[in-house]
Amino acid sequence: MVVTQLPRFHYLVFKNPPPSFKFFPKPKVPIKSTASTLFSAPKSTLSTTEPIPITDFSLPDEPKLEISLDKLFVPPETQVSCDDSSLSTRILKGSNIVLSKYARDAQVVQAEFVKSSVRTEDCPSDGLPEFALVGRSNVGKSSLLNSLVRRKRLALTSKKPGKTQCINHFRINDSWYLVDLPGYGYASAPQELRTDWGKFTKDYFINRSTLVSVFLLIDASIPAKKIDLEYASWLGQNQVPMTLIFTKCDKRKKKKNGGKRPEENVKDFQELICGFFQTVPPWIMTSSVTNQGRDEILLHMAQLRNYWLKH
Ligand code: GDP
Repeated sequence: MVVTQLPRFHYLVFKNPPPSFKFFPKPKVPIKSTASTLFSAPKSTLSTTEPIPITDFSLPDEPKLEISLDKLFVPPETQVSCDDSSLSTRILKGSNIVLSKYARDAQVVQAEFVKSSVRTEDCPSDGLPEFALVGRSNVGKSSLLNSLVRRKRLALTSKKPGKTQCINHFRINDSWYLVDLPGYGYASAPQELRTDWGKFTKDYFINRSTLVSVFLLIDASIPAKKIDLEYASWLGQNQVPMTLIFTKCDKRKKKKNGGKRPEENVKDFQELICGFFQTVPPWIMTSSVTNQGRDEILLHMAQLRNYWLKH
């Protein structure tokens, strides 16, 4: 069986799915690999009897998460097939993302802060593609931004007084933007500010024509929060292209509250949001402490960007 994916950077939404509708039916012939390292392709252990483990950094005594073919994010113009022995090497480590021919020029060699805008129409107008990072306050957004550009304090720019409620543009390699949006769910922010934030970021999501994908950051060290689910749902309902970035995946110790490991929280979150999307959104597990997921995010951004530029 060969599965060919159509362009899917826009996700259709089912607000009220029929009870019998199965969003992600299990494929009849699941597949398996024991490692999904991108850079040094491991010998494939693909068999046709078990699902693919999604990550190869579990501790030896911990069960591995597995992923089935229908839960992969397959970029446009990319084919996957159950009997493709190289499939495991084409899945980005700690993610559900299959690499496409557009995954190139991923390295960050230059990064600079460009401007802070309070309205979408004030954002840079040079037409370069961009990715917006958004998430709950304290989710690790600044840490991730610094890790992506390998600079210790670049994201501090966004935390300066007067900039925290702005759309902050950072130009990368003179060819694309990383955009830092204000954190949401900040309990002590005045209601008025929270409303404003909602208004202007939502306007940005809907009207920014150069926005390739929103990267929604979710803290994988704690159980899913209602506000994150609402946010993912809003993006889905408005067909805003979204990639889920699970942060703090290095926090492996059991917590009193929920007591789940990052992999379990990641799985739970996806189950909770699957009804908002017709196709599975791409997701990546990350840690700014270990730099897990850093190269994978950059490769994913590269393939989305290069496809966007060509179409
Ligand atoms: P922001 O408010 O979303 O910009 O979050 P920050 O980047 O400022 O991080 C909030 C807190 O989480 C800080 O104490 C960070 O040190 C911590 N943090 C951020 N990323 C990680 C991570 O990947 N792993 C762990 N263990 N802590 C993190």
